[in-house]
Amino acid sequence: MRVFNFSPGPAALPLEVLQQAREELPDWQGLGMSVMEVSHRGKAFLEVAARAEADLRELLAIPAGYKVLFLQGGAAAQFAAVPMNLAAAQAEVDYINTGAWSKKAIKEAARFCKVNVVADEAASAYTTVPAAEALRLTPGAAYLHYTPNETIGGVEFPYVPDSGDTPLVADMSSTILSRPVDISRFALIYAGAQKNIGPSGLCIVIVREDLIGKARAGTPSVWDYKAMADEGSMLNTPPTFGWYIAGLVFQWLKRQGGLQAVAAVNRAKAEKLYAAIDSSGYYSNPVARNCRSWMNVPFTLANPELDKKFLAQAQEAGLANLKGHRSVGGMRASIYNAMPMAGVDALVQFMHEFQQQNG
Ligand SMILES: *Cc1c(COP(=O)(O)O)cnc(C)c1O
Repeated sequence: MRVFNFSPGPAALPLEVLQQAREELPDWQGLGMSVMEVSHRGKAFLEVAARAEADLRELLAIPAGYKVLFLQGGAAAQFAAVPMNLAAAQAEVDYINTGAWSKKAIKEAARFCKVNVVADEAASAYTTVPAAEALRLTPGAAYLHYTPNETIGGVEFPYVPDSGDTPLVADMSSTILSRPVDISRFALIYAGAQKNIGPSGLCIVIVREDLIGKARAGTPSVWDYKAMADEGSMLNTPPTFGWYIAGLVFQWLKRQGGLQAVAAVNRAKAEKLYAAIDSSGYYSNPVARNCRSWMNVPFTLANPELDKKFLAQAQEAGLANLKGHRSVGGMRASIYNAMPMAGVDALVQFMHEFQQQNG
């Protein structure tokens, strides 16, 4: 039986996508073998790769002048690849710190160049984002990096920072494809696939063409955006199965009506869950209202001693993976694109019943 899977990542995939993959797995496109078993340089796979890129470009309305790369190593590899490709060793780079993933990106970048943390939300225990006007950028910084959605803290920027002439870099791992974005505001976007795109092992990078080809000396070829772009992300064998599944997810998103339609559902899902939390007098979410995540909703019970019971009973009710991150405790419901409204409805009803019995 399928359950409602609230995992933060690897996360739920649309059932339709899994069914299609199962259906065509043993004999893909009449080749008598699965997509995992064909050459990445063969016609059939090249078509899959091109279609996935074209669909992603259409969904996100990616303007001309951007490369789309399908890489490996997850988002964490990009924590290093970004400074290696966009910043010289003596360069300064600006980072906004809004929580756990920002911190990891900062720590890794500091191995490659001088990092200026231009805003740090420590004072609110990372339950806020900086005010747009409060950002003081370093003149001449190679780029400004931020995390539009903090997957662990459930904090999401309600605006795109204005970085002026400084290239803007975003780790969109847990928010990409959740709604339309104006790609032209960004120099580089990266996203590990396992939240809102497909299986882990794949990482998508969308990068402005004029920024590539300047990787610092010593950058491994597989991390060099130019080398990868020149080879269509096939300098080495790409993660073919992940790329194929990502393509099926993009087609599924198009069938949902594209990102405008997906955004309306995501907004409604999040609003319903936050309303249930706020009106309960039993559950609470610590994040400032203007920057609550649509994708990751952390919440605590009035009595944390009941956490274990809550999780066990939720699991029995078919609501899986609601445990909060080990660094935060409590609960976290991740409600990415593949989580239907019915899953949120079931969670809200369960929370209500649990409160009545234990509150
Ligand atoms: C999950 C996540 C990552 C790490 O992704 P990996 O693929 O495990 O490297 C980085 N940033 C954010 C915002 C994430 O949610």
